[in-house]
Amino acid sequence: KKKHFVAQKVKLFRASDPLLSVVMWGVNHSINELSHVQIPIMLMPDDFKAYSKIKVDNHLFNKENMPSHFKFKEYCPLVFRNLRERFGIDDQDFLNSLTRSAPLNSEAQGRSGARFHTSYDKRYVIKTISSEDVAEMHNILKKYHQFIVECHGNTLLPQFLGMYRLTVDGDETYMIVTRNVFSHRLSVYKKYDLKVGGEIFLKEKPPQPEDVPPRPKSGNVQQRLQTLRIATRFYCAMKHAKELPTYKDNDFINDGQKIHIDGENKKMFLEKLRKDVEFLAQLKLMDYSLLVGIHDVERAEQEEVESEDNEAEEEGESDGGGIGTPPDSPSNTLDSNKPLSPGEFDPTIDVYAIKSNETAPRKEVYFMAVIDILQHYDAKKKAAHAAKTVKHGAGAEISTVNPEQYSKRFYDFITTILS
Ligand code: AMP
Ligand code: AMP
Repeated sequence: KKKHFVAQKVKLFRASDPLLSVVMWGVNHSINELSHVQIPIMLMPDDFKAYSKIKVDNHLFNKENMPSHFKFKEYCPLVFRNLRERFGIDDQDFLNSLTRSAPLNSEAQGRSGARFHTSYDKRYVIKTISSEDVAEMHNILKKYHQFIVECHGNTLLPQFLGMYRLTVDGDETYMIVTRNVFSHRLSVYKKYDLKVGGEIFLKEKPPQPEDVPPRPKSGNVQQRLQTLRIATRFYCAMKHAKELPTYKDNDFINDGQKIHIDGENKKMFLEKLRKDVEFLAQLKLMDYSLLVGIHDVERAEQEEVESEDNEAEEEGESDGGGIGTPPDSPSNTLDSNKPLSPGEFDPTIDVYAIKSNETAPRKEVYFMAVIDILQHYDAKKKAAHAAKTVKHGAGAEISTVNPEQYSKRFYDFITTILS
């Protein structure tokens, strides 16, 4: 008998980096497996410790794209599937975002110099994390899940969507996928990574003359603000010192940057932020930051006109004029949504977007969310203690803010940047 082959496109997971091919392969495998697993009525305690593992020996198959041998481990697959659902993400869409085309290298670099990618459609961020981060994720996952249930996914905390271990050539790499804080289509021309410093920074690097802010006029609030400014400056200074490109002009206060949002949006935002940081303090997590991105509507329109002009010129030079892009080609999938006018966004996708108010000097869209939440107070103290012992001998005092203080300072600082 003749066999009937269903014409199925073989997925090649072509990427510039073998690790990216393995992530693509792994996410494809995981989502396909999960699609055969019934959705349970509720998650069980064991689901928060579970994992799935697979070892692949491809030998010669697809060896242009994939390493011949690799392993892929997914942590708590049912929990993350549940979280994706609560964050309004369909598993097939998630799969497409991560596998249709290779993830893109982000120009931004992690504080730790860690790898950082976005899915090709810019909806998700893929970050390399440490095994300590993976352990911390396991520590917090149950409470995090509970929190997401209670707030109906309406939070400024990272949306954790999948966590994996990749083994290639005996090297283990841990990765976590979260929702992109920024828009998948509105460009952001300025990014800030705001966090409040602790005494450790202040002690180890005394203020430079130019860092000393003008004397506070009077009053408690003013003074408190000054302290926070110093802390922020130090934080920025530290980042400058490490020469990280994303942080070039991140001195929010020096830029005179303000977030112009209306009262209702501000209230909702701060209400979320307050609950989020209270939760983080309960978990003894600290040192997180608020990632802020600013989209300038007019500027973006201008840039679009310019790039269209360039494209038109390029097309004019080639002979291929008149042959349009086929409607179902991959380049069109990005804009498969209904056309939106400038500065408009789909709040189910760009969940962190907030429009500027009527009185703002420029029409803008802001993207703001909390990132980098996995630093635990105890781990930090341990590390700080070890560092101090090396520098100043055993018994040196460690002074650092605790998670409760950190959350309050953080919240207070953020309220001052919203006008
Ligand atoms: P591994 O998957 O063994 O490479 O684990 C990476 C890190 O995550 C290690 O520090 C483990 O202790 C931690 N970890 C892995 N699985 C679990 C789990 N089920 N519960 C708690 N911690 C875990
Ligand atoms: P991190 O390694 O978490 O400190 O992140 C370093 C940089 O990566 C940040 O300053 C951001 O520019 C970017 N980044 C991290 N997480 C996200 C996210 N969820 N969405 C967009 N950008 C991110």
